[in-house]
Amino acid sequence: MIVLNSEAGLERFAGGVVVPTMGALHAGHLLLIRAAREAADRRGKPVLVTIFVNPTQFGPREDFSRYPRTLEADLLACEGAGADAVFAPAAEVVYPSDRPARVPALPAVATEPRLEDAIRPGHFAGVCQVVLRLFELTRPDAAVFGEKDWQQLQVVSAIVRQEGLPVEIIPRPTVREPDGLALSSRNQFLSAAERQRGLSLSRALIEARAQPDAPSAERAMRRIVEAAGVEVDYAVVRHATTLMPVGRDRPVGNRRALVAGRVGSVRLLDNAEWMPVG
Ligand code: AMP
Repeated sequence: MIVLNSEAGLERFAGGVVVPTMGALHAGHLLLIRAAREAADRRGKPVLVTIFVNPTQFGPREDFSRYPRTLEADLLACEGAGADAVFAPAAEVVYPSDRPARVPALPAVATEPRLEDAIRPGHFAGVCQVVLRLFELTRPDAAVFGEKDWQQLQVVSAIVRQEGLPVEIIPRPTVREPDGLALSSRNQFLSAAERQRGLSLSRALIEARAQPDAPSAERAMRRIVEAAGVEVDYAVVRHATTLMPVGRDRPVGNRRALVAGRVGSVRLLDNAEWMPVG
């Protein structure tokens, strides 16, 4: 496996399948890399994993400086999962100081739903900026993203359409611990007691499925997560791709339940398809 830190040598991997990450890789990332391997093999193309903790998607009071960085272990994991190369650039390579960084116009799904965008203003501007720049550098045919960050997946799909990029976005489902907790690079900051509280997010998503309509699913989710001592950012059922409110609309289908909150200093997100009972 080849490790690249600058643009030199990247052209060999153009037309491949890319997996963008911020490192601190876990089994969720590895699922994406294996999916990329399968998609790339079908096309006879290479797999490139990018590892870059993107400063522009963190707010001023967020955890950029303490975000886990485990490059040596990440490289071994990428190799084991079948990557041909890892692109781990310094910030100067992604955002050269001698040219203005391009911040694209944000698609509606980044700004209208009042979900992540309400809690982390500027976050999706940073995400769109880095994804477009990484695509410019790596020129992939396809890129694999996790459903774990559902709004991000919709935002990336929308920006690729908006910019007319010839990149297929391949989604992959969330990998969980046996007890339901969605894997996240930030889980390592949870104490045993906090982890227990964090489990309420996946329990809430399961309980939401037992509710007959979206408002009662939202109430049930909020009750469960609040009772566990999580500071809730949102607990909602939305249209799965626009992420706008659905009320009691019928016919249903194409709905997503999304929940996010803070346990101590750690922010957790989770989501699942939502189908009402009956
Ligand atoms: P990150 O390194 O957190 O920026 O995530 C990189 C990619 O991994 C994103 O597409 C995430 O949605 C995806 N990802 C993160 N956690 C999981 C998980 N538990 N299961 C599947 N994909 C995940």
